[in-house]
Amino acid sequence: MSNRTILLASRPQGKPTPDTFRFEDRERPTPSKGQVLLKTLYVSVDPYMRGRMSDAKSYVPPFEVGQPISGGVVAEVVESQHPELAVGTVVTGNLPWQEYSLSDGKGLTPVPTDGPPISYYLGVLGMPGLTAYFGLLDICRPKEGETVVVSGAAGAVGSVVGQLAKIKGARVVGTAGSDEKVAYLKELGFDEAINYKTTPNIAKALADACPNGVDCYFDNVGGDITDAVYDLLNTHARIALCGQISTYNAEKTPVGPRPEGKLLKTSSMLQGFIVSNYAKRFPEGVRELTQWVEQGKLTFEETFTEGFDQIPAAFLGLFAGENTGKALVKVAEPNAA
Ligand code: NDP
Repeated sequence: MSNRTILLASRPQGKPTPDTFRFEDRERPTPSKGQVLLKTLYVSVDPYMRGRMSDAKSYVPPFEVGQPISGGVVAEVVESQHPELAVGTVVTGNLPWQEYSLSDGKGLTPVPTDGPPISYYLGVLGMPGLTAYFGLLDICRPKEGETVVVSGAAGAVGSVVGQLAKIKGARVVGTAGSDEKVAYLKELGFDEAINYKTTPNIAKALADACPNGVDCYFDNVGGDITDAVYDLLNTHARIALCGQISTYNAEKTPVGPRPEGKLLKTSSMLQGFIVSNYAKRFPEGVRELTQWVEQGKLTFEETFTEGFDQIPAAFLGLFAGENTGKALVKVAEPNAA
């Protein structure tokens, strides 16, 4: 029986292209004792995967050329020889880009099917939501009335950051890459939103949007937007360095203004972080985020691409700004639905 899988065909130089990926049809495996067969339902495409396509040392090892790409997946147990994972159980975990996968259950987290949509466990109630939660609340720690700037604001992480900052009583300014995204940020309650692609002078637009300066900056993108925010930092500003997507496809490390003097003069705190640093506190984060979702205080958009063969296109779309909220690929309906 067919079991399509997507391999890394070659390491991209600069921007990945469809040729970065190769499809292969493999045998659908049968679980042995202690294993389950998982049917992939939703695949998460995430910017950090670009880093894993390069042969560079990082906090996660690179993907191997000729081997399946893997990432966040929501899947359903369709055959089970595992004592605790019955057929019909929906789980999330790090799994290959493959229609069916074997697992011994390690690293899988069962997902409730009677609450929020199961795809949320790849978004607001999964890795991106937790990134927003810990980066904002542990590093930026916004206080009531302070100004928070978030770049990449209409994406999976940024849209949650902005709403959490509003819950904490801050004034929130976001940057995003289209007028539709700007309108979406206003709907979410952002006080100001800037289309960085059409604004002729991003530094002026940010200065106008932040008349009292910037107390917290949640940085998803780096580059010119970040350079401009650093000019607006208030004394004791806090910067959560979450991502630098504007540089992920750069072939040479981009150079820019040296920010150290600005950090020094403002006694600002700049902290890079990886969400897995907070792994021990994930249950707390999921609990709080779930409460806000259930109370209607936190809303979440998902951009679905349909079909297993569209996974590479959905991934490439991240770098063209095609997603609002979480970029996901819907591969199949649950059998038990
Ligand atoms: P998003 O859902 O925000 O999707 C990516 C978005 O980035 C695109 O929609 C696009 O929006 C924007 N973008 C793409 N290219 C550029 C560019 N050249 N300049 C500015 N913006 C660009 O992704 P996530 O929310 O999942 O991730 C956001 C950031 O957080 C990424 O940098 C990611 O690597 C990082 N991250 C870090 C984690 C950590 O543990 N530190 C964990 C999870 C994510 P637009 O239309 O606005 O351009």
